[in-house]
Amino acid sequence: MNYDIIVIGSGPGGYVAAIRASQLGFKTAIVERESLGGICLNWGCIPTKALLKSAQVFEYLNHAADYGIKVEGGEADFAAIIKRSRGVADGMSKGIQFLMKKNKIDVIMGTAKIKKGGKVEVKGGDGSTKEYTAKHTILATGARSRELPNLKQDGKTIIGYRQAMNLEKQPKSLVVVGSGAIGVEFAYFYNSIGTKVTVVEYLDRIVPVEDTDISKQLEKSLKKAGIDILTSAEVTGVDTSSSPAKVSIKTAKGEQTIEAEVVLSAVGITPNIENLGLEEVGVKTDKGRVLVDDYYKTNVEGVYAIGDIVKGQALAHVASAEGITCVEKIKGLHVEPINYNNIPGCTYCSPEIASVGYTEKAAKDAGYELKIGKFPFSASGKASASGAKDGFVKVIFDAKYGEFLGAHLIGNNVTEMIAEVVVARKLETTGHEIIKSVHPHPTMSEAIMEAAADAYGECIHL
Ligand SMILES: Cc1cc2nc3c(=O)[nH]c(=O)nc-3n(C[C@H](O)[C@H](O)[C@H](O)COP(=O)(O)OP(=O)(O)OC[C@H]3O[C@@H](n4cnc5c(N)ncnc54)[C@H](O)[C@@H]3O)c2cc1C
Repeated sequence: MNYDIIVIGSGPGGYVAAIRASQLGFKTAIVERESLGGICLNWGCIPTKALLKSAQVFEYLNHAADYGIKVEGGEADFAAIIKRSRGVADGMSKGIQFLMKKNKIDVIMGTAKIKKGGKVEVKGGDGSTKEYTAKHTILATGARSRELPNLKQDGKTIIGYRQAMNLEKQPKSLVVVGSGAIGVEFAYFYNSIGTKVTVVEYLDRIVPVEDTDISKQLEKSLKKAGIDILTSAEVTGVDTSSSPAKVSIKTAKGEQTIEAEVVLSAVGITPNIENLGLEEVGVKTDKGRVLVDDYYKTNVEGVYAIGDIVKGQALAHVASAEGITCVEKIKGLHVEPINYNNIPGCTYCSPEIASVGYTEKAAKDAGYELKIGKFPFSASGKASASGAKDGFVKVIFDAKYGEFLGAHLIGNNVTEMIAEVVVARKLETTGHEIIKSVHPHPTMSEAIMEAAADAYGECIHL
């Protein structure tokens, strides 16, 4: 069975690459060992957002009186929340099945391995093996939860993200180790439905990839919501011999022990590059990731890699963009390499976080002279009307040429607002062009225009 392109892995990198390949006229197949849609649709982006929506609805109910609505007896039904989330994920996975069929892409279920000479060997669930050939093979095998030596996941007391979104019973107490997007989203979800949550972060602030002001504001908001947060703190061990488990934590103030029914390890990911045939074929890797050029070509002719297994932000939209870039380059189209400094990052707790481009520190370190503007949602009419005054928009410009260097948003619905800044940066927009782009009133997005105006001393509502 010969193909122009075989894609291994059907996450947002793989399935998007396959669809673009088919659109460009390539005879395409995709191999998947588990469920179509990969981590993103089945165990990542989508099911977590379904959980977070339930948390948000529950929060609205609990605060209904603030909006003049009387509600009595609202209760979070954990099993039903999980069931809804799993249902949403299953529905999305079926949607990918439909898209594969629509685009005439052959779906091969099984575990794939590359071999020399453009061959791909697929082992099916029944143990049988079949061989396929392709002119081009794109590896898009994604990643799994990273395990720390002193935090071995047993799937029951010490868990990873998969179990965290599929527990049978709501834990009374939870320690979340790691405060990146995944850790913070689960911390927020469980806290809002009544679990006692403690977040332990090794670095000196939560969401450490974000601008410092965002970390400070989020810490304030999460603490106000009842989450305990320990920064500059390290989990040194977990005693699971009795329930609740005893979590030993080293902090600047000394050792302390916290009891928790469940410990969620959210300390990052490990790319799936084992047993893929990389060594046999001679594909080079570095620090656990496949080495590729700007168009995702490995050192071996005809072998490419995209998504969580290559360097760059481990995000679904990055994987998809890489898939499209890779396939268009194979076709010989004129494609620009991806600018990784213009990739938006979003965290969907409450308040939400969305950011793109340089943080203040990164911009200073890069030698820019800065013009910074900030607009708090407490001064926004729409935020007041919505009862969502927490948070702000911070924008950073280069003082010399006015280049829009970065934006950092925290507040209600900001994950839907960040795309404006992404387009602005892509089009190399300056601060004054943002200020002169009339924004609709009343919207949360006016805060971007006002923050830009603040940078130039022209803010109206502050
Ligand atoms: C809890 C959680 C929440 C997240 N939320 C977000 C979010 O809100 N926004 C965002 O942008 N990103 C989010 N991410 C990250 C996002 O899910 C990943 O960046 C994205 O899924 C990576 O896509 P991918 O195509 O590289 O791989 P994956 O989605 O991991 O897919 C890889 C696929 O390859 C298959 N596979 C692996 N090896 C083989 C093999 N040998 N043969 C056949 N098939 C194989 C796997 O079964 C899997 O289906 C989240 C991740 C997690 C864990």
